[in-house]
Amino acid sequence: MSTFGELAKLGHEQVVYCRDDSVGLRAIIAIHSTALGPALGGTRLYNYASEADALHDVLRLSRGMTYKAAVAGLDLGGGKAVIWGDPNTIKSEALFRSYGRFVDSLGGRYITAEDMNTTVEDMNFINRETKWVTGHSTYSGGSGDPSPVTAWGVYHGIRACLEVVYGGPDVQGRTIAIQGVGSVGYHLARFLHESGAKLLFNDISDRRLACVLEEFGGTVLGDDDYWSAECDVLAPCAIGGVVNARTIPLIRAPIVAGSANNQLANEVEDGEALERAGITYAPDYVINAGGLINVDSELQHTPREKSMQDAANIFTTLKAIINKAKSGGITTTQAGNRLAEERIEAVAHLRRFHLNR
Ligand code: NAD
Repeated sequence: MSTFGELAKLGHEQVVYCRDDSVGLRAIIAIHSTALGPALGGTRLYNYASEADALHDVLRLSRGMTYKAAVAGLDLGGGKAVIWGDPNTIKSEALFRSYGRFVDSLGGRYITAEDMNTTVEDMNFINRETKWVTGHSTYSGGSGDPSPVTAWGVYHGIRACLEVVYGGPDVQGRTIAIQGVGSVGYHLARFLHESGAKLLFNDISDRRLACVLEEFGGTVLGDDDYWSAECDVLAPCAIGGVVNARTIPLIRAPIVAGSANNQLANEVEDGEALERAGITYAPDYVINAGGLINVDSELQHTPREKSMQDAANIFTTLKAIINKAKSGGITTTQAGNRLAEERIEAVAHLRRFHLNR
């Protein structure tokens, strides 16, 4: 398929190729939609097998950001960027500053942030060349670690699922199994523990497991025991692709609701398999939007309390999505996508009326 054909397929507005051989920079910035606002999304640094793979990834990820921002009710569009190279060897001040100049040339249509293999320090270099960057240090006006806000949103998303499935949102006395007790999983465990939930944990890091066991108590599960655990909620907060044709038949919990990105190995087939099994799935991009809400607060210069309140509203959004899925006979991911598309359509429509601000 031609590049224009691929852009048309997913509905992208603009794709920018950036090259600076003097610093080894090869980057692609994809702007999927600016219908709701500037396209925001992180910069991923990855050693793709081919240019086609890099393009495919940035197109897919940028489209996902449009839906995430739309469902979260933010005035942001969707974008993403990839830098093609080996994260162990390619990084330098000059590379990120050169890249920052390309970001700047888009005049705010695209705003970047951290993603896989890029750090606060890298954002600080980009920030030397452009103001269109978030996620830089708190001392230079950044919003700091987003994990507590993400976890707070996941906590309220879990409450929404409990309400739909059990008729009440209380986590007191419920058993919740968290996979991955890193930045988000740790804070989620804290919120759940404080609310009286019983906790089960799975992680590949013994150090992290020891830390949560000491603080919150609970039980450790091996990998397959995790998926077949007798519990009320499975909360995958580690890696993507874990909900798949192998694990779905093992699941006995009525709810899957966690922070991990791209939890479903196959969005359509695995979403439908969960639906058929009577398992309520919280679409990852809806329940983990707290990170994006946190970044938005950096742009709006609003305090963390406002982000926490907005993240708590994931309760209402997620409940509406699950009910929409039930009444429409569709998966929760499809219901979330429709909600996003309806909001984009309705709000973009407002722009027909020019206001001379
Ligand atoms: P993290 O790296 O701090 O923690 C991940 C944890 O998962 C670690 O404790 C790690 O040991 C564990 N882990 C890794 N592979 C595992 C496996 N195969 N089985 C069990 N445990 C495993 O990451 P994080 O920032 O907490 O993010 C967790 C997930 O949530 C990721 O998918 C991330 O993309 C997503 N997410 C995070 C944020 C945020 O604010 N940090 C926002 C949105 C989405």
